[in-house]
Amino acid sequence: MYFDTHAHLDDKAFDEDRDELLLRLRESGVDCVLDPGCDPESSRKAASLAEGEEWVFFAAGIHPEELHAFNDEGLEQIAALLKHPKCRAVGEIGLDYYWDDSHKEEQKRLFHAQLSLARENGLPVVIHDREAHGDCLAVVRQYPGLRGVFHCYSGSPEMAEELLRMGWYLGFDGPITYKNARKALDVLRICPEDRILVETDSPYLAPAPKRGKRNDPGNLPFICAKIAEIRGKTPEEVAELTAANGRRLFGIA
Ligand SMILES: [Zn+2]
Repeated sequence: MYFDTHAHLDDKAFDEDRDELLLRLRESGVDCVLDPGCDPESSRKAASLAEGEEWVFFAAGIHPEELHAFNDEGLEQIAALLKHPKCRAVGEIGLDYYWDDSHKEEQKRLFHAQLSLARENGLPVVIHDREAHGDCLAVVRQYPGLRGVFHCYSGSPEMAEELLRMGWYLGFDGPITYKNARKALDVLRICPEDRILVETDSPYLAPAPKRGKRNDPGNLPFICAKIAEIRGKTPEEVAELTAANGRRLFGIA
């Protein structure tokens, strides 16, 4: 019943016990995961994981922190992976001025190149926007037909409203369970029910009771419980509606 729309199961943090983890997730009610790639290599790893598990899907893309992979060869490898039957999105792609604000123009060129790939292939996108809200919004405005999710949404409620009007989804992660969470909760209050996605961003961003530890999709119930509290629903209702939203956006029956 849980769909984690953003978990880096291909990450080396899971190399030791990935098979056990996958088994445990299935038993705990996680029945769908989307693993977004960060460069050609991790996108390929995510693809092979998805080949082995019918309930795992992947996205292919070059993350803004992986600018070194931005060349013709890298883009061709991503383009080839987008044809894979289990590839459901281009991602994760976007802008990150937190880690590196000295290559903004190059980051934007990479972002545009991959948004064009998404449009050509009729795929949604998974967007990473860190400390780059204005520029991310300005870029996606140039692709009016394109849909996708702003992963781990951290922008303002005003920006959220504009994205929602354009048809975008918003992803909510572990940080909504942290004591200092405020802005994301305000956004959660105004986000229509059919645009909320739940994500763990595993192995990062473990929710409150597990903060600082390795995260995995089995922690989704903590995120669903927080959303349920804010929206006046049961955690089960939140799990079900967010799973349905993810399946709709990523075209998973
Ligand atoms: Zn991520």
